[in-house]
Amino acid sequence: RVRVRFAPSPTGIFHVGGARSALFNWLVALRTGGDFVLRIEDTDASRNRPEWTDGIISALDWLGISPGRYEGPVLQSSRADRHRAAAVRLREAGLAYFCDCTREALAERTGNAQHGYDGFCRDRGLEPGPGRALRFRTPDEGATTVRDLIRGTPEFPNDTIEDFVIARADGSAVFLLANVVDDLEMGITHVIRGEEHLSNTPKQQLLWTALGAAEPPVWAHVPVIVNEKRQKLSKRRDKVALESYRDEGYLAGAMKNYLMLLGWAPPGEDEIVPWETIESTFDLADVKPSPAFFDEKKLRSFNGEYIRALSVEEFISAVGPWLAPPAAPWAADAFDADVFAAVAGLAQSRLSVLSEIVPMVDFLFLPEAPVDDAAWAKAMKGPATDLLTDVHDLFGKVEWDAETLKTTLTEIGERHGLKLAKAQAPVRVAVTGRTVGLPLFESLEVFGREATRRRIAAARD
Ligand code: GLU
Repeated sequence: RVRVRFAPSPTGIFHVGGARSALFNWLVALRTGGDFVLRIEDTDASRNRPEWTDGIISALDWLGISPGRYEGPVLQSSRADRHRAAAVRLREAGLAYFCDCTREALAERTGNAQHGYDGFCRDRGLEPGPGRALRFRTPDEGATTVRDLIRGTPEFPNDTIEDFVIARADGSAVFLLANVVDDLEMGITHVIRGEEHLSNTPKQQLLWTALGAAEPPVWAHVPVIVNEKRQKLSKRRDKVALESYRDEGYLAGAMKNYLMLLGWAPPGEDEIVPWETIESTFDLADVKPSPAFFDEKKLRSFNGEYIRALSVEEFISAVGPWLAPPAAPWAADAFDADVFAAVAGLAQSRLSVLSEIVPMVDFLFLPEAPVDDAAWAKAMKGPATDLLTDVHDLFGKVEWDAETLKTTLTEIGERHGLKLAKAQAPVRVAVTGRTVGLPLFESLEVFGREATRRRIAAARD
């Protein structure tokens, strides 16, 4: 039975790369009828915070990996005794030894500590004590070959694998050991994780064997994610928090679909595919090892497509949170669901992310047009005031429907020597406060005669 796990460290925001690993693991479990375990690797007490763990759980939930549908979360910290016990076992079996070398002493001997540990304490037979870490004795001969579903069978000569630390002087296990002990004892069969861990893998596979595993797991190291400059996506430089995409109004469906393409592609031409298709076709063996480009523009356009695929009712409920405090503080007393429903379809076809709804429709609800000074200055030049005078006048008399308003403004424009596009600009800015937005005449029809004329008068005067 296949058992996979997602094992994030709660040391910061939840990264889109973590989300992609979680989804790949999740799909392997779904496809094989196997188990998915969530293990929170919270052993670095100085860097963990409980809110990061909550953030991971809620972000996974947003992606459809919901509590109750998986095993866990298991907190790695709750298993510290098991990790210590494993370190003791390795030492008792002669597979690990105590070492009191400082970094400085090692650097002095080897000239450059980068080469790794030189084995100085291997045969000194040190007893446990302060300042003495436990190191794993790696084999001197042969090679460690790992089986990786994405990268084939990379081989690591054992004499290039240093004797590495598995436990600190206080007996607590380091990441390399704790991670293996948990995977082994939890019966994990496939370790699917980021490429940055590939260099840990030969060490960890040696630990699996040393701890008595009949077989090491199957590995799959998913490709690194890069930005448009081909740099590894980083917290400092790039927008990597899954949460920030959610808060900006990306739909979970679009996000999931896009994340899957970071290393994988669905069969056929289309990249935008229903989740069911992904569930029924995903195979780790089809994941490419080359770096995956995180293209925010493409993600945005995906999201626009997902938004347009919603029914109007679904759209209205999806944008709901943006048309309420805190996203729209004014909405508490000014929002009118019927007015919004009248323009929802127009807005739906124009959005890429849900948060864009606010500047598109706020003019309908605010007591005055939200003024953008630059837009105002640009639109209210030349014949604008005279034009608005005529608009105010005629908009008081004609039928109040989009078609008539358009014909009327076209005629007024001609009188002032302006094409319709130019004639629209001051009207749009006067009413909506902005230079771009929903189709003007449909908006005015919804906004109403009195309200429209009041704003035009205010702009004219
Ligand atoms: N806690 C590790 C990380 O977040 C897990 C690595 C693994 O999946 O084995 O990078």
